[in-house]
Amino acid sequence: MFDNLSEKLDKALHVLKGHGQITEINVAETLKEIRRALLDADVNFKIAKEFTNKVKEKALGQNVLTSLQPGQLMVKIVKDELTQLMGGDAEGIDLSGNPSVILMSGLQGSGKTTFSGKLANYLQSKKAKKPLLVACDVYRPAAIDQLHVVGEQIGVEVYSDRENNDPVKIAKAGVAHAKANGCNVVIIDTAGRLAVDEQMMTEIANIHKAIAPQETLFVVDSMTGQDAVNTAKAFNDVLNFDGVILTKLDGDTRGGAAISIKSVVDKPIKFIGTGEKMEAIDVFYPSRMADRILG
Ligand code: GDP
Repeated sequence: MFDNLSEKLDKALHVLKGHGQITEINVAETLKEIRRALLDADVNFKIAKEFTNKVKEKALGQNVLTSLQPGQLMVKIVKDELTQLMGGDAEGIDLSGNPSVILMSGLQGSGKTTFSGKLANYLQSKKAKKPLLVACDVYRPAAIDQLHVVGEQIGVEVYSDRENNDPVKIAKAGVAHAKANGCNVVIIDTAGRLAVDEQMMTEIANIHKAIAPQETLFVVDSMTGQDAVNTAKAFNDVLNFDGVILTKLDGDTRGGAAISIKSVVDKPIKFIGTGEKMEAIDVFYPSRMADRILG
């Protein structure tokens, strides 16, 4: 995960690590390298620039030039700023409803169905919840089948209605089914498209309005870098979602989406997907991720 970025940041900071005393030129060069590493990671130019400016400000404020271990201090400053950029403190999901309704949104192929299963599995095994999965993709019968396969795999009931082509009605019926059957979490998997389009946005907005979920989560493939960030913005403008799910981090060597998404939509990354298996889900902790990136 993020191997390229880690390597480049390590290289950028390496220059300072060996020095007992450093100069302004050393710091300026390091900052330039850090910015380059972020741009290579597909972080938006403005965010990369703001980031290095903040690091510079802090470095000067903390007298990095005269400190005993300037390299160490710079690593700490960069780590703290990365943590802030990715979201500061970790955020949970709201499970206070009975049932708690969680709406999944995102493009087709982003990993929504897989993540719906992972989340149901996580809530069942780690939080002692009784989830219900609801299949609201009325366009692709294969998507309904896929959710049933996932549900069977993890031992979670799946609600679907192949005769109904109104996703709002299915979502509502799913919530009613959960209430009638003692399920305390409802996870609604919705249809995605290959790209943002108006019909999809209207549909998900209508479901959102009709069921007023406790949590609306936006699922996105982290490997798509700045595209992921742009898609997040488009969905957030319509849904004002509560959190981001970054999938496929296992294949992402760059990390641009993880680093930029929070500052663009001002919503926390809540979970990450790190593989195809149902167990490949982790709560997202910005500070742990920063530790990991900086080694
Ligand atoms: P949906 O169209 O948004 O419902 O996406 P799917 O859940 O069908 O996922 C699309 C593809 O991505 C499938 O082949 C999944 O197995 C794969 N996938 C989903 N999440 C992850 C992940 O975290 N890591 C990896 N490597 N693959 C994933």
